[in-house]
Amino acid sequence: MKKGPKKKPGAYTRKKIIDEFTDLEISRQQKWQLRRAKEGRCVICGEPKVTAWHCLKHAIANREWARKYSGSKRRNNTLTYRLASEVKGKAAKKRK
Ligand SMILES: [Zn+2]
Repeated sequence: MKKGPKKKPGAYTRKKIIDEFTDLEISRQQKWQLRRAKEGRCVICGEPKVTAWHCLKHAIANREWARKYSGSKRRNNTLTYRLASEVKGKAAKKRK
């Protein structure tokens, strides 16, 4: 992280984060998400992400939420299913 040139000691308990998102007219949650996305992390929990926005856990949570929302019945062999089975497979093998 780059530090800004201006320094006002004691003005704030925490320094304001100055980056390309600082002046955007969006909520601070949205900025937090954009910063996580830029760092390649899950926009919910900050874990390393596996999809465009989420870690595996939240990608699955989001998928299930979207399924409920749209009333899907079929389950195609998409990325999150493949990743989930991969993780399961690893856990079953118990590698050193
Ligand atoms: Zn997450």
